[in-house]
Amino acid sequence: MRIGAHVDSTDPLGEAAARGAETVQFFLTDPQAWKDPEPRADADAVRATDIDVYIHAPYRINVATLNNRIRIPSRKLLLTHAQGAAALGAKGLIVHGGHVGKGEDVAVGFDNWRKTFEYGAKAGGFPTPILIENTAGGDNACARRFDALARLWEAIGDYDVGFCLDTCHAYAGGEDLLDAVDRIKAITGRIDLIHANDSKDPFDSGRDRHDNLGAGTIDPELIVAVVRAAGAPVVVETPGGVAGQGADIEFLRDRLGR
Ligand SMILES: [Zn+2]
Repeated sequence: MRIGAHVDSTDPLGEAAARGAETVQFFLTDPQAWKDPEPRADADAVRATDIDVYIHAPYRINVATLNNRIRIPSRKLLLTHAQGAAALGAKGLIVHGGHVGKGEDVAVGFDNWRKTFEYGAKAGGFPTPILIENTAGGDNACARRFDALARLWEAIGDYDVGFCLDTCHAYAGGEDLLDAVDRIKAITGRIDLIHANDSKDPFDSGRDRHDNLGAGTIDPELIVAVVRAAGAPVVVETPGGVAGQGADIEFLRDRLGR
């Protein structure tokens, strides 16, 4: 399986080379902004690379919310980032599962996800596979607990939608990693990408703070076991730049015997 890292978007191919990465993930815009991606000067090189390219959608996106002023622009932003990702030949656009507000019915959130894919279909389909990522926090999240994930997939499973499993988010979100891959595949039928991250916070803390493999609260062998069971490409979203992420990539390759 191919292993790499989430890197700064200025020179993703250079960052990937510095880490010996076979996969690379980056943002197309400031992840905190509501901005459509701009054409990139390195688009030809990114399209031509042997490295598997993944794009992470902005954090602002919440297509599940009942708030029109966030939900409608979120759908549009998901589409424009999928178009930007397609222009780079990306294998997937990763987006967080989103949530509804306190006291609101999460069933509406699942239906809003369905409407998002309906919206995409009307535009001719999302031009890059959408990979929904599990999240660590919130009581009204669509993809924190796997029981919610099952309800989400009941709503959207007929569309071609993929899944990205983040080990930090699952653990901090209160899901046991030991059999996580089997339980997810029973729901989604697929895992397209692993975000292999340790967690600074304890099990079920609901907090989302990544750490280098072996430096946090998760048994690193458990992360290796998840990666092996999933058999999917891997991105580390860990701190420490070239040295920190390079060591995490090496750790995984060593443990996986490759
Ligand atoms: Zn992640």
